[in-house]
Amino acid sequence: MIPLSVPCFRGNEWAYVRECLDTGWVSSAGKYVEVFERNICAATGAKYAIACASGTAALHVALRVAGVMPGDEVIVPTLTFIAPVNAVRYLQAEPVFMDCDDFYNMDAEKTLAFLAEETEQRDGHAFHVKTGRRIAAAIPVHVFGNAADLAALSEACRTRNIRIVEDASESLGTRYAPSMLGGRHTGTIGEIGCLSFNGNKIVTSGGGGMILTDNPDYADRARYWTTQAKDDAIRYIHHDVGYNYRMTNMAAALGVAQLEQLDAFCEIKKARFEAYRDAVGEIEGLNLAEPPSYAHCNHWFHCLQIDAERYGTDRDGLLDRLNNAGIQARPVWHPNHWQRPYRNCRRWRIERALRLWETTVNLPCSAGLSDRQFEQVTEALKHG
Ligand SMILES: *Cc1c(COP(=O)(O)O)cnc(C)c1O
Repeated sequence: MIPLSVPCFRGNEWAYVRECLDTGWVSSAGKYVEVFERNICAATGAKYAIACASGTAALHVALRVAGVMPGDEVIVPTLTFIAPVNAVRYLQAEPVFMDCDDFYNMDAEKTLAFLAEETEQRDGHAFHVKTGRRIAAAIPVHVFGNAADLAALSEACRTRNIRIVEDASESLGTRYAPSMLGGRHTGTIGEIGCLSFNGNKIVTSGGGGMILTDNPDYADRARYWTTQAKDDAIRYIHHDVGYNYRMTNMAAALGVAQLEQLDAFCEIKKARFEAYRDAVGEIEGLNLAEPPSYAHCNHWFHCLQIDAERYGTDRDGLLDRLNNAGIQARPVWHPNHWQRPYRNCRRWRIERALRLWETTVNLPCSAGLSDRQFEQVTEALKHG
């Protein structure tokens, strides 16, 4: 089977993980956690980075740091991996689902329209007029590595006292073009951002995540809550309810070695994206989705779009064909406003997300994908 997305270990992974075992520093203390945090700051330009046990843990704590309270509402895209939506519920807050744009990201224009038409400002906060709930935050997700269009949205949220918590789990290596948002890295535009180092991401630590922020108070609180809210570590004094969300030194060692290869992975993936685009361009009814031109994309995932009439097969037919040929391909995520825990939640004019969901397939995209495997995929696509 040609896998969809598996890690690629070509650097110092063995050496750094071995060092953890040899020295006994395998758990929540050791130099690699701090090295990883420092190197992520250097790679993204964030002032502070706080390593976490997972991207989901990072999102949970980031939302809490951003001030999301029980009963608040948080604007989320319907088309995303479900983790950021679940993180809203961990805090007993409610998601409000938003449509996506042509790059699969939360639609900025629609979000602005929602804010203008459906919210009012009271006592310095934004309230949803239909529900009376405070809108505390929005979670733009940089889906598939495509940078979300945050230029106007971040300003609109700032003026309304709505925190932007960016989910940059999939976009490590993606930064805006110099003319947009100062060329900054995704995850550093909002008040707080999150990364994931799960096994399928562009850089993996086995499992892990990172909270990014420029705000020293946010950084302190994130560190406090991810490490059991210790007020006196010697006497076991805790003035608040914390979590065991710290990354282990073993995971960080792997992450440090992987991060050293980020630029190389981005280059490989860009070349693969271009090769897929050229090959797919020759096939009637297929098209490879382009990333937005206002950013430099990490090309983490490739989105194949199918015009079922011209291609002669629909998405599910194509998925069957690829899977039968030993190629792991997948539809994009099931729209979250249809998922059982969220069926009764508010949503706003969701249209494009459904069209893209019906017509898109993710193709194998591992950095280690061989030329032979690439040809197998494109051959299988041709026989429509
Ligand atoms: C992977 C991912 C997460 C969750 O990260 P974990 O490290 O697996 O907990 C969150 N959001 C998005 C968009 C992701 O792709």
